[in-house]
Amino acid sequence: MKALRWYGRKDLRYEDVPEPSPGPGQLKIKVALAGICGTDLKEYATGPVMIPPDKAPLTLGHEFAGKVAAFGKGVTDFKIGDRVSGVGYWYCGECYYCKKGLYNLCINQGFTGLTTDGCMAEFFILPAYACYKLPDSVSDEYGALVEPLAVALHAIRQAKVSAGDTVAIVGDGTIGLCVLLCARAAGAAAVCLVAKHKGRGGLAEKLGANAVIYLDEGNPARKLLELTDGIGADAAIECVGYPDTPQLTVELVRRGGIAVLVGVFEKPGALDFSTITFTERTLVGSSIYVHEGRTVIDLLADGRIDPSSLITSVVPLKDAVEQGFEQLVRNKESNIKTLLRVS
Ligand SMILES: [Zn+2]
Ligand SMILES: [Zn+2]
Repeated sequence: MKALRWYGRKDLRYEDVPEPSPGPGQLKIKVALAGICGTDLKEYATGPVMIPPDKAPLTLGHEFAGKVAAFGKGVTDFKIGDRVSGVGYWYCGECYYCKKGLYNLCINQGFTGLTTDGCMAEFFILPAYACYKLPDSVSDEYGALVEPLAVALHAIRQAKVSAGDTVAIVGDGTIGLCVLLCARAAGAAAVCLVAKHKGRGGLAEKLGANAVIYLDEGNPARKLLELTDGIGADAAIECVGYPDTPQLTVELVRRGGIAVLVGVFEKPGALDFSTITFTERTLVGSSIYVHEGRTVIDLLADGRIDPSSLITSVVPLKDAVEQGFEQLVRNKESNIKTLLRVS
C-alpha cells in the first residue's frame, strides 16, 4: 500500500509499505480522508519536535475518516465496513491516571502518527477505544475534523465555559477556530478572537465571533476591556504556543476567571505572577481529550457545530508535499485545514 512517510525535516516520501494487521483490541482502518495538523506541519518544517529520534521512517497523521477493514481479537463494537473517525491517543489502561479514567494523562501514552504509524496511508491501525462510528449525517470531511474539535472541546471544558459567558481566544489557526465553534456550542454569549492574520476576521465572524482583535492594533487586553465594560473575559484560551501568548491570555481574563493553555510550547516563556495573585485568576493546562471525540460527533450530527468553512482544500495523498504541506508553510493567510484524499 502507499503511505506518506516522514524521514526527517523537509523529507516526506510517498512510497510503498507493507499493509499493517490489527492486534488484539485494534482496528485496521481504510482511510478516506486524512487531515494535516499543525503538529504534522511542525514535524515537516522544523522537526523532529515530538517524533522520537529512533522512530523514522514513520507515517504521519492522526486526523481521519475511513472505514473498518479488519479488527483484532476482542473487538466487539465494530464490524467491517463501519464508517469511523477517531482520535490519536494510545493509553496503557493500567497506570494511576488510566485507572482514574484520565487517559489523556497516561504516563505510558503514545500517539498515532508520532509514535506509531499514522493515517496518511491507505490503511492504518488504531486501538478500538480511540475510534467512533460516524452516523450518516456526518460526512467524511467533518469526520476528519473530529480530532482537532475534540482538542477544542476539552479546552472549553477546562475553561468551565457555561451559558452566557464571555470567552476570548488567542490564535486564529485550526485549533483557535475549533475552540470558537465549541465555545458557541457550549453557550458562550460573546466570543472574541485575537488574530494575527488579517484574512481570518471575516471567517471568525462567520463561525460565531462577536469581535476580532488584531495583534498589531495595540494592546489586545486593553481592547477587550473596552468591549466588556472594563471587565474582561470569563475565560480565555491560548491556542498558539509562543513564549509571550500565555501572559496575554491571562490579561484577557477578568478577576477570578480562568485562562487555559492548549498551545504546544517549544520554548519556555515568562509570566508576571502578580497578574495571578491579586486577581485570583486560575491558569490551567489542557492536554488533548478524554472522551470528547464522541461528544463532538453528536454536536456535528445535530448541527450545533458546523466546521465546513475550516476546510480550505482537499488534495490527493500523492500530492501531499507540494499541494498540502508546502502550501501550508508558504501560504498561511489563505490555508486553514487541508485534507488529503486517500480513497
Ligand atoms: Zn491534530
Ligand atoms: Zn496509563
